[in-house]
Amino acid sequence: MIIKFLGATKTVTGSFFVIETGAVRFAVDCGMFQGSKQLKEKNYSDFPLEPGSIQFIVLTHAHIDHSGLIPKLSKAGFKGPIYTTPATAELCEIMFPDAGHIQESEVEMKNRKLSRAGKTLLEPIYTAEEALECLPQLHPLNYDEVHRLAPGVEIRLRDAGHILGSSMVEMWIDEDGQKEKLVFSGDLGQGSQPIIKDPTMIESADYVVLESTYGDRLHKGTATRVEQLRKIIEETMSRGGNLIIPSFAVERTQDLLYDLSILQAEGQLDPSIDIYIDSPLAIAATEIFQRNMEYYDQETMKIIGGGRHPLKLPNLKFSRTREDSVELNNRVGNTIIISASGMCDAGRIKYHLKYNLWRPESTILFVGYQAVGTLGRRILDGEKMVTIHGDQLVVKADIKSIEAYSAHADQVGLLSWLRHFKQKPKTIFLVHGEEKVQPILADLIQSDLGIPVLIPGWLDNYELRPEGVLVEGAMVQVHELPEHRVAPVNKALVAERKYLELRTRLNTLFQEKYDRALYDELIESLEKIASNM
Ligand SMILES: [Zn+2]
Ligand SMILES: [Zn+2]
Repeated sequence: MIIKFLGATKTVTGSFFVIETGAVRFAVDCGMFQGSKQLKEKNYSDFPLEPGSIQFIVLTHAHIDHSGLIPKLSKAGFKGPIYTTPATAELCEIMFPDAGHIQESEVEMKNRKLSRAGKTLLEPIYTAEEALECLPQLHPLNYDEVHRLAPGVEIRLRDAGHILGSSMVEMWIDEDGQKEKLVFSGDLGQGSQPIIKDPTMIESADYVVLESTYGDRLHKGTATRVEQLRKIIEETMSRGGNLIIPSFAVERTQDLLYDLSILQAEGQLDPSIDIYIDSPLAIAATEIFQRNMEYYDQETMKIIGGGRHPLKLPNLKFSRTREDSVELNNRVGNTIIISASGMCDAGRIKYHLKYNLWRPESTILFVGYQAVGTLGRRILDGEKMVTIHGDQLVVKADIKSIEAYSAHADQVGLLSWLRHFKQKPKTIFLVHGEEKVQPILADLIQSDLGIPVLIPGWLDNYELRPEGVLVEGAMVQVHELPEHRVAPVNKALVAERKYLELRTRLNTLFQEKYDRALYDELIESLEKIASNM
């Protein structure tokens, strides 16, 4: 079995891993690169392998850094099923067209500049309309069920506790009778997160592909998160400012609503303060959250049982249209605006920053990860002057951040998830983390847990060889997919493997008695046979 690391290597975004057995080739995630210009350029280049050769995708969750290049892959020839949880599928239905829309507006803006300079115009990676075309490929699978997706490939999605519908993937690969188990952590949640359940603990794996976003730090103040929020609201409102919260549309926005509803229930939030969600995507995501109650944890169900829905606040307003959003520009004080994108690189948040960054009475509150190179990261890092839509703005607003909102496990969270493995994995591959963070976590895993760690680079391939056969509990029921859904054996791959194997054997034979003409003739015939198979 070969695993190819095609994204999220020594960086957080662009998750894309391809697994190849002798018989099938499939992917886990196919995400967009976000952050620096150099990284984003990767979204525009050709895929490093033939998209049509990927037979199916297992998608861990709806975040764009895991799912955002699926519409591009599909446009380029990938026609197989995308296996994921029902909630992820529902979220993708709104997130794909939204990402397409962002591509269109970004390219439109760039093209205005390019055409003034007489240069060749760009094309969006995919449009909102093109994004819709891959939606029928989404194929929901429930948590905790084992499904056979192809000959020798069985998977089980487990709750990753990161965002609604997020999963980690357990994968059993049987190649020539040798069974190996791979676990992809996906994005691993933090136990203390509101609304959704805690991450599932897994007990066995031969290989683990582990995210490492916060591998070098500990989240502080989880217990005082709501109190921190209360204090920031109070300070901002008493100065007569607005509280602007750049927030990811999915999960973070709803987590904030949850905490605001706690403050409200405790009488700690002035009911005259207006709370706006100003992002069509966040509004649609909130509605999906409201519908999917089976994903809620016990605590949330208890609140609902008590007659209060933590996502339905009385003074909450959805600002749906462009006009609704523009109107918010005139508001001075007594207003909380939660808007996307979470890293301030696109969307309506840019307007709210434009109207509030220079106001000393306002507060910009960061509640999520800010990738290197994004506008959010620059503001958070203390830049005093930023450019938005071509306007230079001085940063005078109070810049605050509450780290405890992270939807990612911190160092302790990652290590304690690994400690639950009863059988030590043979190797852990670290992905989805910044280059300076990963060695810190790798050292800790190796010294504390004694498990070898590899940090793959972009386009690295690893061949995983079995040294023992994994025996999993016999009670596991395998769900058989309808026959047309089971990925067929990839004949080209089989031929390629056979060809390489025969060539190696020929090389060994000819080492003893070398006959150039005969060797060339044999290799040539072999190539012909392989290409016709
Ligand atoms: Zn994520
Ligand atoms: Zn991620």
